[in-house]
Amino acid sequence: MLDLQELDAKADQLRHQRSHLPELDEIEQLTTSRKDLDNRARDAQIVVDDLTEEQSKIDLDVEQGRTRRTRDQERVDQGVISNPKDLQRMLSELESLQRRITTLEDQELEVMEQVETAQKELDSLTSQVTAADERLTTLSGSRDEKIGALDQELDAVAADRAPIEAGLPADLIALYEKLREQKGGVGAAPLRARQCGGCRLSLDPAELAQIKAAGSDEVIRCEECQRILVRVAESGL
Ligand SMILES: [Zn+2]
Repeated sequence: MLDLQELDAKADQLRHQRSHLPELDEIEQLTTSRKDLDNRARDAQIVVDDLTEEQSKIDLDVEQGRTRRTRDQERVDQGVISNPKDLQRMLSELESLQRRITTLEDQELEVMEQVETAQKELDSLTSQVTAADERLTTLSGSRDEKIGALDQELDAVAADRAPIEAGLPADLIALYEKLREQKGGVGAAPLRARQCGGCRLSLDPAELAQIKAAGSDEVIRCEECQRILVRVAESGL
């Protein structure tokens, strides 16, 4: 009976270890923060895309302005506009065109800087996601390794346990299992030095006398904690 209790306590401990691996906590936290990083990276990508599109539009506007300026300037230089009024209008148009090009070039520079800043943010977030993925891979590997080892130990405990259980009466096993469920995993305890190994209380002489008188196959229970009491050499009877 006590051998069974010892193996069951060991199995409980192994299962506890299995469900409380430090990797599990870190994986959970990291999975949450990775999701957050990934969302932020997606947002940053949208910002980069929008700014890049804006930059292309401005590039195109600048390009068109320059082409028109070159064309108009050529017409002025070639002297094809003979009417002084038309020439005057063309020159003032060229001036305002030049102002527009300058404004667009300033905007272009500004947007280029914004693209650069947004791209840096995106790169940083992307590399953080990659780092999180690498760490998650390491943690999962370590978790699986530990779980594999613990499962092997649990299998070994189960293999040791089976013949012991088979050698005990079914109703005693049923009582023991019920007590284990109710009493923190300990269903049977040794009576050692007149003390219950389950609740640590000393038995009074009358109880001890009763136990001493009981048959060796009779199931003894602690009056205090109800656990199965197992008589051992050092019981003090
Ligand atoms: Zn007890």
